[in-house]
Amino acid sequence: MGAGYGIMHGCMGRVCRIIFLCCLCLLLAGGCQQQGGSSLRSPRPFKFQPSNKKLVPRTVNRLAREANIKIRMVPANSRQRRAAKKIRPTFLTIHSTANHSSSATAMQHSRALCRGAFSNRSWHFTVDQYMVVQNLPLNESGWHAGTAAGNHNSLGIEMCEAENRGQNHFRTWDRAAKLVAVLMKRYNINLRHVVPHYHWTGKNCPTPLLSNGRPGPKWGWFLSRVDYYYRCINGGKPNR
Ligand SMILES: [Zn+2]
Repeated sequence: MGAGYGIMHGCMGRVCRIIFLCCLCLLLAGGCQQQGGSSLRSPRPFKFQPSNKKLVPRTVNRLAREANIKIRMVPANSRQRRAAKKIRPTFLTIHSTANHSSSATAMQHSRALCRGAFSNRSWHFTVDQYMVVQNLPLNESGWHAGTAAGNHNSLGIEMCEAENRGQNHFRTWDRAAKLVAVLMKRYNINLRHVVPHYHWTGKNCPTPLLSNGRPGPKWGWFLSRVDYYYRCINGGKPNR
């Protein structure tokens, strides 16, 4: 069903087994990522005001098309991908790049990610005001959350803050909200499991959607956008 969303899945069959064995070897050799915090905290619901905007019903495929998802995968033989684990995501982790350069677009970040410019770091989607770029298969872990629990249970979504006449932030957040709603539907993820990077480590990320470094009114606004789009593709019913 994912193919209809324009979202690619991971390798299948033999290749999959080879990657699994590689991961196992790395584990046994002690070469896996060293990360703290393996416990999986269940977050308390975040209070927000649901939008009373009139729903515009559409299919999940339609919303995915609106999000405009392109594919630019980190190479399968890269350091990041070879260290990945097989996962089934139950959380969605939201980040921002905190890079205000006008050239710091989703595609530029994706290109840099693909050539290893961010060292071991990796994430699943990069979003700007024009598009979403998928960078990892959705059944492989990335390294973005700062804890093993975060990396092994969530998909990482980076939002780009490239400046463009002050219009892009809202559009980027709105596009990210559409993507999150699509992924919630696809993986049956509760809105409570849509979390800021802050949730895993206390880091001030995504900075523009936090208030004094913590989830506050701006985070509530983002969740209300996600909740709105989710209800648009789910017959009006929320998943909170
Ligand atoms: Zn982050």
